[in-house]
Amino acid sequence: MRPFSYQRATDPDMAVQALSAAAAANNPLTQATAQPLAGGTTLIDLMKLDVTRPTAIVDINPLAQAWSAIEPGSDGLRLGALAKMSDVAAHAEIQRNYPVIANSLKLAASAQLRNMATLGGNVMQRTRCSYFRDVSYENCNKRNPGSGCAAMDGVNRMHAVLGTSDQCIATYPGDFAQALIALDAVVEITGKGGTRSMSFAELHKAPGNSPDIETTLQPGELISAFSIPGRWPRSVYLKARDRQSYEFALSSAAIALDVQGGTIRDARVGLGGVATMPWRAREAEALLKGQKFDEALAQRVADAAFADARGRRHNSFKIALGKRVVARALQQAVTMEI
Ligand SMILES: Cc1cc2nc3c(=O)[nH]c(=O)nc-3n(C[C@H](O)[C@H](O)[C@H](O)COP(=O)(O)OP(=O)(O)OC[C@H]3O[C@@H](n4cnc5c(N)ncnc54)[C@H](O)[C@@H]3O)c2cc1C
Ligand code: SF4
Repeated sequence: MRPFSYQRATDPDMAVQALSAAAAANNPLTQATAQPLAGGTTLIDLMKLDVTRPTAIVDINPLAQAWSAIEPGSDGLRLGALAKMSDVAAHAEIQRNYPVIANSLKLAASAQLRNMATLGGNVMQRTRCSYFRDVSYENCNKRNPGSGCAAMDGVNRMHAVLGTSDQCIATYPGDFAQALIALDAVVEITGKGGTRSMSFAELHKAPGNSPDIETTLQPGELISAFSIPGRWPRSVYLKARDRQSYEFALSSAAIALDVQGGTIRDARVGLGGVATMPWRAREAEALLKGQKFDEALAQRVADAAFADARGRRHNSFKIALGKRVVARALQQAVTMEI
């Protein structure tokens, strides 16, 4: 591990200032010389692997009192970015009115990790592409821009089939982000100019020609909260993985429905484990609206969700698997008792 300075930020201004001061203006956030530390369950791993090489760490845990509230209200939900994954997953009102959020968190990582890890750190986690995480591989456009991509012709069983580019096919690994994107979440960002908000869908970037730039956050900016409009008691997070615990998704679906009198009034479909960024399947959603559910509709929706998918040598199975996950999650959402 390389030497770095450590600073505890006791208020948001101090955190923003410390991060901005150390950041080189032309660096993408992910290569920034200063990085915030929340639970540390990803950042410290990547520093030990020498993938991330910050020279300054700004510990934001002292901000937890202000930034970890779980606030369900009559018109929506607000979650502080420093709330722990386990606390949100176990919250009775989240389980009742946002089961897709509770389950996306409960099915992630392990109990010990969820007790340490925060919501902000979770959405900012980086790909688990093994070539990215192993610095002995030179060819990784995400870690080493312009060097090529070892995964294209390498072992790509875990890689993405949606949102890929000829520069990078790495999967976005998180679960919670699929629930956020499906529910039209808004992310609150604290930076030098104060606080701004944007749609969560605008936070992550597809790899395109610059896979090293993963989000639209600027150096010095911090996620302070997420808010979700409305309530979604009829919602499901279904995750298929190689083992039933402590494993990333091969394919997952975040589904939220508003069903009245047997007719689907509103529908949300997020996909995980299959795409380079948190993924919303809007064409698939459109097929559901105004319809009564049956198996044939579920199949059409699943086909639409993967219409643009592109498989490679080892990961084509994700297209068939992903369709089954979507169809089954829809069935579960329609039949669940609320
Ligand atoms: C073995 C293992 C299995 C896992 N399995 C899963 C899984 O199945 N599903 C899943 O979703 N996750 C999984 N994870 C990932 C885990 O959930 C993340 O490590 C965790 O959520 C990160 O949160 P943290 O608070 O520890 O973040 P940190 O490690 O502290 O930070 C992560 C990154 O986010 C940045 N950051 C932190 N907070 C903020 C903020 N407020 N604003 C801006 N940037 C910020 C940090 O600078 C860093 O770059 C797994 C991790 C491990 C080690
Ligand atoms: S898929 Fe992306 S992260 Fe993985 S080796 Fe290729 S460029 Fe690097």
